[in-house]
Amino acid sequence: MTTIMIGKGREKPIIQQHPWIFSGAIARVEGDPAPGDIVTVVSSNGKFLARGYWNPKSQIQVRILTWRDEPIDDAWWRMMLNRAIQARATLYPATEHPIACRLINAENDYLPGLIVDRYGDYLVLQALTLGIDQRKELIVQLLSELLPLKGIYERSDVDVRGKEGLKFATGVLWGAEPPVDLEIWEDLRLLIDVRDGHKTGFYLDQAANRRLLFDLINNVYSTQASCRVLNLFSYTGGFSLQALRHGNTEVISVDSSQEVLSLAERNLALNPRFDRSKAKFVQADVFDYLREQNTAQFDIVVLDPPKFAQNQQQIEKAARGYKDINLNAIKLIKPGGYLMTFSCSGAISPDLFQKIVFGALADTRRQAQILKHLGASEDHPIALTFPEGEYLKGLLLRVY
Ligand code: SAH
Repeated sequence: MTTIMIGKGREKPIIQQHPWIFSGAIARVEGDPAPGDIVTVVSSNGKFLARGYWNPKSQIQVRILTWRDEPIDDAWWRMMLNRAIQARATLYPATEHPIACRLINAENDYLPGLIVDRYGDYLVLQALTLGIDQRKELIVQLLSELLPLKGIYERSDVDVRGKEGLKFATGVLWGAEPPVDLEIWEDLRLLIDVRDGHKTGFYLDQAANRRLLFDLINNVYSTQASCRVLNLFSYTGGFSLQALRHGNTEVISVDSSQEVLSLAERNLALNPRFDRSKAKFVQADVFDYLREQNTAQFDIVVLDPPKFAQNQQQIEKAARGYKDINLNAIKLIKPGGYLMTFSCSGAISPDLFQKIVFGALADTRRQAQILKHLGASEDHPIALTFPEGEYLKGLLLRVY
């Protein structure tokens, strides 16, 4: 058995169950582990601390799988996968509609490096680390037994794999190939592009916030003649369609990608009850689009940009970007209207994000109240010991 000995005084985060061990915390590697092997982590005086998988190529040399002195065998993987899947079963009781939800949320489900999303009868898997990549076959086998559906597809085409010495990998892992038009249900019908869509095909993390938009319109605007919504960075129209469930809503969706807007239009067509004349899709850069508008004309603006800060070094530049779009978005909101604003940059803390939005507001000389702090849906739990898991944060503001 290979042992990783931690340097004196570096044990605390491990004892507190942070799942990452950086190279600087390691004093000695005993034995001759191969990359990806399971290793036992011990303190500087040889006491057992944890067990995890090792990758000397990565800055994060060990990702912890357990803090108990137990074997990491097939039964362990089965138990952990099953626990995460069962936790979702209560959130998403079986219905006649195709379920879409995250089943495994990596570190936050104590399975570092592993993402598994469900879209109807298909699972989409992302292996972010070498330790997971090497065990893909076992994980796929276990998933197919624990939740037998039609197929498991791989979307391991994310840049972080480079840091683990891995190339991209995509394709069928088990069972049938998912159809091009894979349909799911999020109170309405949506098509998911699992091959080329972002992430595993869809922003499942925003599902609860999309529903919140529906509720907001329901509560505040259902008795009004109209409700004008601007959905910025719309992707395939998730927020737009939730808004359009109300007959009196008009929605403008803006995204720089024609491809995602085309899918948004097809999503709209798939829900024939919705009034297509009330939806407008605009291909534009949001920064430019916002500067071109100059009247406070919207009841609700949704602002859900891509990740502006990839790391700590990019925080300042990202902050300027967030401030710019929030400032210009606030200007377009009618007095008494609402802003739903988000950041999915892990490097920007919820506190910093709130300060940035505060700065944007101050420059507009408008007033705003926080009605809710927003985060990812419940199928994206955050391990309390892993603050990095809280990448998505947002604010629901009423703006005067
Ligand atoms: N709110 C969406 C997810 C948004 S993802 C949902 O709930 O599904 C971010 C989107 O921003 C992507 O679709 C991407 O194409 C788009 N995008 C990135 N940079 C952009 C820019 N500068 N202007 C407009 N759209 C942009």
